[in-house]
Amino acid sequence: MNERAEKAAGVYTRLAGVYGIPDWRPVNEPVDELILTILSANTNDRNSQAAFETLVARFGHDWDAVRRAPLAEVKAAIRVAGMYNQKAPALVASLEKLHQEVGAYTLDHLAPMPVEQALAYLQSFPGVGHKTASIVLLFCFRKQTFPVDTHIQRQSQRLGISHAKASPLAVKRDWETLLPQADYYSLHLNLIRHGREVCDARAPRCAHCVLASLCDYTVQAERETVVERF
Ligand code: SF4
Repeated sequence: MNERAEKAAGVYTRLAGVYGIPDWRPVNEPVDELILTILSANTNDRNSQAAFETLVARFGHDWDAVRRAPLAEVKAAIRVAGMYNQKAPALVASLEKLHQEVGAYTLDHLAPMPVEQALAYLQSFPGVGHKTASIVLLFCFRKQTFPVDTHIQRQSQRLGISHAKASPLAVKRDWETLLPQADYYSLHLNLIRHGREVCDARAPRCAHCVLASLCDYTVQAERETVVERF
């Protein structure tokens, strides 16, 4: 095992030791998850969940009604998620695509698809990138693909799993190369939790971090402290 693979295994094991290994369980219907994830771009979970709930309160789970509604009504319903001028058209266009191509508001046809084919299919939806596609596939279908959000990108760069300027897609590829597929779900959830609770974007709590001895960021910080002393 090379050094990065050992580090990746160490990150997985230490976070599992602190946060446990979550059982996979589908929380949302795939189309709901797709819509929720479109709403989640550039905002926090609280706002995207609130926007989803407002949308459902206004239209029920009648996705056909959302597709046919005046765009202004959809924008108003999801306003709390921010970027509603971009998100509402993407959401409606995704529903339109399902209506045209599948004739129903379901993603059940993804279940038998190989993961790369399913990823490419979902990314053909307006406003859906590899993060959204991977979340839908991992969380709803248990397909082995590693979603990367800002928490995971930041920690991967700091840890030295990924290059300091690695794109989210490069980070995804790094983890997928270094980890067994069965570990993706657990590590994804645990890294997000660790990013929220310990490895904060502005003020990482390195002194309290179980990953500190594996992390390039702390090594770099120590070097800078030593240079400052002299
Ligand atoms: S040691 Fe610091 S920078 Fe590294 S993962 Fe932990 S909190 Fe983040």
